Amino acid sequence: MIDFNILECPVCKKTQHKNLYSLDKGRLIKCQNCHLAFYIPRPTAEELSDFYNQQSYRNDYEQSVMSSHDFTENRYLELKKIIATYQPNLLKQSNKTFLDIGCGLGDLLSLAIADGWQVTGTEISPIATEQSDINIRDRILIGDILSLDFPESSFDLITIYHVIEHLIDPMHTLIKMRKLLKPDGVLFVETPNMGSLGAKIKGKEWSHIIPPEHITYFDLSSLDYAIRHSGFNNCNVFTSSPQVIKSIENWSNPYKSIAEFIYKLMPILGLGATLQSIAIK
Ligand SMILES: [Zn+2]
Repeated sequence: MIDFNILECPVCKKTQHKNLYSLDKGRLIKCQNCHLAFYIPRPTAEELSDFYNQQSYRNDYEQSVMSSHDFTENRYLELKKIIATYQPNLLKQSNKTFLDIGCGLGDLLSLAIADGWQVTGTEISPIATEQSDINIRDRILIGDILSLDFPESSFDLITIYHVIEHLIDPMHTLIKMRKLLKPDGVLFVETPNMGSLGAKIKGKEWSHIIPPEHITYFDLSSLDYAIRHSGFNNCNVFTSSPQVIKSIENWSNPYKSIAEFIYKLMPILGLGATLQSIAIK
């Protein structure tokens, strides 16, 4: 039996929680102070490393990083649009440096190089260096960002797409990313939204509740809390909907139009499927 009273929240370290869902091998609890939802029992770093090195995970991973060129291009254009809104001077700068944490095969980095950035990627899976484009391979370092050695104040832009929900200790990673940014540098975080309409409707059946892969679940308020408490004073958090929604592609009208309207409305209400944040050092 897990003793609730001694469990510290991975973000704020407080010990007041409420039970959210009982799952197969553990449960999801929510911190009463910062609103982070997290899976217990917390896996150890060794357990996670064993999990990610399993062949079945590697096969799934290989398939998932084979994302289409259009998907990555949309992601890059969206990123530039957000930077143009909150830190427009960065895009005008020459010799801009960009670090993408959890870069997969480095597709986003390839687009950024073509657009004038000096790029670096990190990836925990060696697949990245085995299968990435030959031109990008030597720009990708294999390992966890916490154990990789970069000089402080190295980067103008750091992105971390769909990685933070996998982390045992998201605060250490946020603090490290802030250290690696130059003054006025930009951090961009994207993660599934625990406060999304989908998460609210589906409850414990929400597709992102997949421990031990996803163990740390943010919503608007907990992501804002975590980023600010890692040292960023300037932080904006919002939600977004996917640009292409495969599940409704073949629907007929009026159902398709109604579904598209709902998808567009959700981010305005803070209920979009994806949580995004831009923070400036
Ligand atoms: Zn907390």
